[in-house]
Amino acid sequence: MQGIDDIAAALADLDQAGRRRAPRLVEAHEGMRVRIAGRWLLSFASNDYLGMAAEPPSADCLAALARPVRLGAGASHLLSGHHAAHAVLETELAEFVGLPRALVFGSGYMANLAVLTSLVGRTGEVFADRLNHASLVDAAQLSRARHRRYRHNDLAHLAALLSTSDAPEKMIVSDAVFSMDGDAADLAGLLDLARRHKAWLYIDDAHGIGVLGERGAGSLAAQSMRRDFADYPMAIYMATLGKALGVAGAFVAADTRVIDWLVNKARTYIYTTAMPPLLAASASANLRRVVDEAWRRQRLAEHIRAFRQGLEGHALQLMPSATAIQPILVGADRDATRLADALQDAGLLVPAIRPPTVPEGTARLRVSLSAGHAPEDVARLIEALRTNGRG
Ligand SMILES: *Cc1c(COP(=O)(O)O)cnc(C)c1O
Repeated sequence: MQGIDDIAAALADLDQAGRRRAPRLVEAHEGMRVRIAGRWLLSFASNDYLGMAAEPPSADCLAALARPVRLGAGASHLLSGHHAAHAVLETELAEFVGLPRALVFGSGYMANLAVLTSLVGRTGEVFADRLNHASLVDAAQLSRARHRRYRHNDLAHLAALLSTSDAPEKMIVSDAVFSMDGDAADLAGLLDLARRHKAWLYIDDAHGIGVLGERGAGSLAAQSMRRDFADYPMAIYMATLGKALGVAGAFVAADTRVIDWLVNKARTYIYTTAMPPLLAASASANLRRVVDEAWRRQRLAEHIRAFRQGLEGHALQLMPSATAIQPILVGADRDATRLADALQDAGLLVPAIRPPTVPEGTARLRVSLSAGHAPEDVARLIEALRTNGRG
């Protein structure tokens, strides 16, 4: 961009291509219903899988906040911003996922930048699933390591790439649950390859924590990988606190030495103000609710079953997902937008996801189900899809 006119022209081009984006203002909200441009819509567009972000803070949460807790951290962790609420949350999170230590970050994006840039450098190689989240792509680029991408969930391809590598530092990086597809990575297969190649393994469980596995402990629990992960000190786990956990922020859990290294090296830990202690205390309160309120996971599971069953035998193309993320593959950008518009006319908010967020030719609707939905809400979505989704 040489000047302001170039920006105007580029924006016009995006407009022309139907790819210009702007945030929709949520003027009011009530559970999973949101008011946008004066109209109430039933939302299937959040990552609030347990419905906790949409609720007023629980009594438990308010009680936790009533104790002396600061709003602002006042500084970065290493200066004077590391407070009791952070320390408590880190202990609880490590215990929750079954790894030695946890470190909280302001966001998942920052956590991903932290891990990749601290552990691999110019001479290293990052082996990444093609469908990894954008923050992992950016993290790999910022690390300056060679970025090698393997076909989605194709461990044979990954193995082939690893066997051609003589880089001194290697890191395998994968989403545990893919954010635009809803399918899962094979954690045992990934760990096995990491061990054989003495590579780091970094797993981003943004969409698994809170919803998958016993007690909602995430993808490691769901795939019975807690012990194996803990036994391999080069395995690193990350999850966010802003999706199922309903607050904001993220954490990395790993071997104690890895965490100490991040504290010393990770620029997105060192050069940024610590997460507000108020939010850390809220995350602790919500973590207890994840464990105690198993009905949320059961309800979500019922919604997933009902949704897939309700569209069985219909022309709409569901993707092979067993999670709260239930995309409907459409193909052409325009068709995805048209279907999303038709649903919106019917009072339903379901985002059309288009390139570059997903590969060209795979535009889709990203239906995201939540325990905050009532069975009638899911039935209404199924009905609207059946009516509007005929090819
Ligand atoms: C949302 C998401 C992130 C980013 O987390 P934030 O806390 O929102 O910054 C990282 N990885 C994956 C897979 C995500 O879905």
